[in-house]
Amino acid sequence: MAQPRADHSPVSDYLFLFTEWLGFDIVDRATNGEMSGSDAAEVIAAAIDFADSVLAPLQQIGDREGARLVDGSVRLPEGFSHAYQAFIDAGWVTAVAPASAGGDGLPGAVCAGLSEVWNASNAAFALCWLLTSGQIHALDAFGSKQLRERYLARLVSGDWTGTMDLTEPGAGTDLGSIRTTATPMADGTWSITGEKIFITWGDHDIAENIVHLVLARTPDAPDGTKGLSLFVAPRILVNDDGSLGARNRITTVAIEKKLGIHGSPTCALSYEGATGYLVGDLNQGLAGMFVMMNSARAGMGFQATGISDRALHDAAQYASQRIQGRVIERADNAPIADHPDVRRLLLSMASKVFAMRALGVLVGDLLDGDGDVLGELFVPIFKGWATEDAISVTSDAIQVFGGMGYIEETGVAQHFRDARIMSIYEGTTAIQSNDLVGRKVLRDGGANVNALLQRVAGTVAEIRSFGDPVAQRTADRLERAMGAARSATNNMLSFATRPRDTYAVSVPYLMMLGTLAGGWMHGLAVVAVLKHENLTAEDEGRLTLADFYGAHHLPRVFALAETVASGEVG
Ligand SMILES: Cc1cc2nc3c(=O)[nH]c(=O)nc-3n(C[C@H](O)[C@H](O)[C@H](O)COP(=O)(O)OP(=O)(O)OC[C@H]3O[C@@H](n4cnc5c(N)ncnc54)[C@H](O)[C@@H]3O)c2cc1C
Repeated sequence: MAQPRADHSPVSDYLFLFTEWLGFDIVDRATNGEMSGSDAAEVIAAAIDFADSVLAPLQQIGDREGARLVDGSVRLPEGFSHAYQAFIDAGWVTAVAPASAGGDGLPGAVCAGLSEVWNASNAAFALCWLLTSGQIHALDAFGSKQLRERYLARLVSGDWTGTMDLTEPGAGTDLGSIRTTATPMADGTWSITGEKIFITWGDHDIAENIVHLVLARTPDAPDGTKGLSLFVAPRILVNDDGSLGARNRITTVAIEKKLGIHGSPTCALSYEGATGYLVGDLNQGLAGMFVMMNSARAGMGFQATGISDRALHDAAQYASQRIQGRVIERADNAPIADHPDVRRLLLSMASKVFAMRALGVLVGDLLDGDGDVLGELFVPIFKGWATEDAISVTSDAIQVFGGMGYIEETGVAQHFRDARIMSIYEGTTAIQSNDLVGRKVLRDGGANVNALLQRVAGTVAEIRSFGDPVAQRTADRLERAMGAARSATNNMLSFATRPRDTYAVSVPYLMMLGTLAGGWMHGLAVVAVLKHENLTAEDEGRLTLADFYGAHHLPRVFALAETVASGEVG
């Protein structure tokens, strides 16, 4: 009977996903033959080695010590600075930066895997890299020649780190309320004044400079989001020759005490006439910031996968060692992993983790293509669904540990605390669902969702060609779930003139599509596995996960579809 293994490494999943899962080598295709899926799996393995030896040992230290504000500057926990230097020396920042920005330009599917690895080992640390990577994409797309020369190169090398500065005390979800101002100066620069809060890695002591990407409003700009412009504002000003000059007028006023990710400094920054440089066109700031936000939203899905995988790994390890209670139909002293309910918990976690990982690879690959509609459709789904499910996966890990899960000493509670923010930052799940429904479902009359359902139907037809009982069950379940998703989409479209009904159930609708997408990911795995002449233990394990996901998780699609049909209650 297949069991999630305590020593399971994501490398075998990545090798499978890169080389077999879609029926071709996606890395080879993305790089025009320059890199194969097995080369890419080796990159993931090297990243795991690095993460295990350098980042993971700091995960609990970061949680215990946390970032501190000392005399107006942030001090990070012991070891973070050394780890960051090792991280950039090993080239992990440059690896994922696009070639057009001077990076190695690894394909999106591989970047997804790397992001999972960093987040699994140390999510608080990984946020620094995640935001810097997002800013690199934004400046690559919208930065002037001068900004590219002066800032982009230093971000790509990892010498400097990047932040995104949107939130203000009166402007969280509603970016149209941003009040920070940018006033033009005679020398062509801008003077930025305002309060930004909750800025991740907004101040620290592990790199020589911090590049803030700031949304602000210029004089006479229109109200709302149409009046926002984007600026680069470095913590330390950069001279014409690229050397560092005086401190910019940006003060760290406070850092937040929070539930999790204690090693990640969450800063309140005061801009007091700070020097900034316009990125892109005036009043078009959201377009540039959106590049960063899109990258960060996909990044949240990878973060969800990473933290969930770490929680699964810890739970599987504990369950394989802890002996408690007589296990039904097993020898004396069988570990708790053999209790049917503990096995249920572990399979539940493992089947979700595989679904997230596979969807992450698909999203990474789709986003490499130019404006692929399926990629655009999946970004809010992946962000919303994976981060919400990560909360339940990390909670299940605590359940597997029993009382010891609730005790900080075991470290498993940290995953749950760290995971809780992911469905809030980078746009809450409600905001992902508004984006999904408003821009990507209603606007085209459901055409993109129907295109997705067509793809799932194609997979169902392939699964049916195998006589294997798991294949048959998977095809039946996916077919029923697709029917429910179709009728929920029709209900959504019928609400078009009743927006309160639409937005009262947009989160259940997103979760429904995410759950269905997870089933599709497993369905694709079933097809790839059953093409093998002889099934290995690993193949059997993949079939068990698909079967479990179909039995335990996919039925949520029906329940959620029924909820969607109800619209706003009351
Ligand atoms: C640890 C941490 C790190 C962060 N890092 C950054 C960062 O690096 N940069 C940055 O700029 N910000 C950052 N943030 C801010 C984060 O993005 C915001 O907290 C988030 O966008 C929500 O805004 P808010 O907190 O003001 O909540 P609110 O906007 O007040 O939302 C409260 C509730 O109302 C709901 N709501 C609000 N508007 C709508 C709507 N239109 N439709 C449906 N529901 C709605 C929300 O979904 C939520 O449930 C961070 C926050 C935290 C806690």
